[in-house]
Amino acid sequence: MDKQLSESEVLQLLMQAEEYEDALDVLHPEDAVKEDPTVFETFDTASSKLAIVVGHTQRSQGASGATPISTTEYIWNKQLAKHIKSIASSHNIGCKIFYRDGVGIVGAYKRVKIWEPDSCIELHFNAFNGQVIGTETLYGAYHPSKDWAEAIQQAIIKLYDRNPKSDRGIKQRKIGERGGKNVNQLDTIPSCLVEPYFGDVSSEAVLADDYLIDLAKAIVDTHINYFG
Ligand SMILES: [Zn+2]
Repeated sequence: MDKQLSESEVLQLLMQAEEYEDALDVLHPEDAVKEDPTVFETFDTASSKLAIVVGHTQRSQGASGATPISTTEYIWNKQLAKHIKSIASSHNIGCKIFYRDGVGIVGAYKRVKIWEPDSCIELHFNAFNGQVIGTETLYGAYHPSKDWAEAIQQAIIKLYDRNPKSDRGIKQRKIGERGGKNVNQLDTIPSCLVEPYFGDVSSEAVLADDYLIDLAKAIVDTHINYFG
């Protein structure tokens, strides 16, 4: 390819790749992450419930992060999800982790909906040309999600001390746009998709690693401020 692609052209290609990967996930139901039958969880006494969707799957793991992330979105964010769950549990917040493996985006969100959480967040990180940095949060067309996305975005830009340039803001996405399928599945539950940093940039990968637990804490704190 001899012409340099614009960011929007790359986004378009990525969306097509992710559509294809999502179709592959649905074609492989054997990939589904099984719940551990030895772990019994009850959320009866939880003061509220937070659902975490891990972006991507074992089969299609998303972008690769620079050192010290040194792994893919899927592997990195599985780790982040576990930190969120443990911090949430210590605050009596019910937290369940949902995977797209074997069920695809729609299948994962169907399961989220059945669980009836108060909020939902899907974990990713961004990657482009190794130079662009910043934080952005995506949300869909349904009413309760914009304020939730804004609250999460504010918490993350505060955590990383972002400036107006690296605060890329909240972005509404329609089905057919990148991330649009993910953020338009829950009509009554506030949901958003976070891209806290560009994992392909070294300084951002350092930020991700240094503040891994703090990011988990910021997400739980935002949920608590919002839903108690
Ligand atoms: Zn991603």
